[in-house]
Amino acid sequence: MQFRSVIGQHELKAKLVQTIREGRISHAQLFWGAEGTGNLPLALAYAQYLNCADRGETDSCGVCPSCNKMQKLIHPDLHFAVPVNSTKSVTADKKPVTDYFLPQWRRALTDNPYLTEADWYATLEIENKQGRISVHEATRIIEKLNFKAFESEYKILILWLPERMGAEAANRLLKLVEEPPEKTVFLLVCEDTNRVIKTILSRAMPVRVPPIAADYLRDALMERRQLPEAQAGKIARLSEGSYSRALALLQSDSEKNEYFEWFTFMMRNAYAGNFLDLLDWLGELSKVGRERQKNFLLYAEHLLRESFMFNRGAESAVYLMGEEEQFARKFSPFVNERNIDELFKQLNLALGHIGQNGNPTMIFTDMFLQIGKLLRK
Ligand SMILES: [Zn+2]
Repeated sequence: MQFRSVIGQHELKAKLVQTIREGRISHAQLFWGAEGTGNLPLALAYAQYLNCADRGETDSCGVCPSCNKMQKLIHPDLHFAVPVNSTKSVTADKKPVTDYFLPQWRRALTDNPYLTEADWYATLEIENKQGRISVHEATRIIEKLNFKAFESEYKILILWLPERMGAEAANRLLKLVEEPPEKTVFLLVCEDTNRVIKTILSRAMPVRVPPIAADYLRDALMERRQLPEAQAGKIARLSEGSYSRALALLQSDSEKNEYFEWFTFMMRNAYAGNFLDLLDWLGELSKVGRERQKNFLLYAEHLLRESFMFNRGAESAVYLMGEEEQFARKFSPFVNERNIDELFKQLNLALGHIGQNGNPTMIFTDMFLQIGKLLRK
């Protein structure tokens, strides 16, 4: 990974490049920043720059044999230690360590260098367990780093989430972190220093990774996710400088689009009394699962409330954008003091019944009929 692929963080990048160019390479460094700020991508870019055969003034060349292998995460002098646990294929008696999961790790990190701990566990299908950096992992690390570098000047170990390392593993690594073999660099990548074992923490030079500035986050969303500027800006402001949080918000935004379509379809047809069309659609709605049905009903309440605010002329209180706003404005005459309480009651009733595992077909059929009556009141 090159520095130019890391979102924002220009000051920090310049500082990191400068320390390498001046030959001030600390043998143990702690890239420390909240989830999604880019602490892992920065460590990768640092490692690539360090071993690049043709370093530029601000970035690695990206094309030398070292860069080539670094980018594919297959450089023989680049090692990883990340939290893992037993899975279906790597059972507990095999003493799971990172090496067993390298193909998955490379793929996950290539797909998204801003991957979160939860993303990683989802890849391993161990969502219900926590990963660990075990004492067996520590032993492997010592073995690997005691070899000479194969191809490049530096051997680099990226240890992701030292928070997941227990005392036994930390103790085993202590001496190595303190006095590593020559030309060996430890890059520890952490999110919460309070949960890292103190003896390790005190031996690493901190590299503080701040939240990503909102403008850079917005630009990244426009470039990488092809979002229009307004939407990108809105998500960037809500993301608190974390690209992974922005991606999560984007995800729920796309669900919202679906709910918006459902809501408008439901209201139009309920008002027009097109119950055949509604019943037709019901087949689909019954199949999406209770979680999404519940989320849809919550979304419907939200949009209904905002439409009612338009009806009351309280426009400043309305927080909607784009097509939601246009729809709520047009829909607002139909949501008024005569029916709003009853409409809410119907949605809440459905929400309760779905939550209690009622039959969705019956629940929604009843709701459509009642909403139709109320809208025509
Ligand atoms: Zn290079």
